[in-house]
Amino acid sequence: MHELSLLQALVGELEGVVRRYGARRVVRFRLEVGELANVVPELLEEAFALLQKRIPWMADAVMETEYRPVRIRCHACGHEGEWANRQIRCPVCSGHAVTVVEGEELRLRDVELEIPDVDASGGDAP
Ligand SMILES: [Zn+2]
Repeated sequence: MHELSLLQALVGELEGVVRRYGARRVVRFRLEVGELANVVPELLEEAFALLQKRIPWMADAVMETEYRPVRIRCHACGHEGEWANRQIRCPVCSGHAVTVVEGEELRLRDVELEIPDVDASGGDAP
C-alpha cells in the first residue's frame, strides 16, 4: 500500500520530534496532502489505524488531513494559481510550459505533543 509507506516515512519524522522533546506521546498532527500526491483518503486512514496499533506513542493521536490544490506557474505568461479542470496547463494562456509549484507534497504540520513535567520531584503535588 502506497499510503502506508508514505505514512511510515512521516512516522520516522514524528519519532524524531518525539525524541527531541522527550514527549510521552503525540496528541495530534496535521498532514498537508497535495492533490498530486496520489493519496486515497480512505487508504490513508486505514494505514494510520494500522500504524497506531503498532506504535504506542501514536496510539491516541489524532491525524488531521488537509488536502491542498495543485498550483502551477506558467512560463509563457507568468500566471501563478490553482489549476483548472485538473489539467497541467495554464488556465490563462493555455500554455503547457508550466511548473507545478504545489500539490505533490505530503507535509507534517502542527505537531502537538504530550510532554511529561520534568521539574516534578517524584510524587504528585497535594
Ligand atoms: Zn500562461
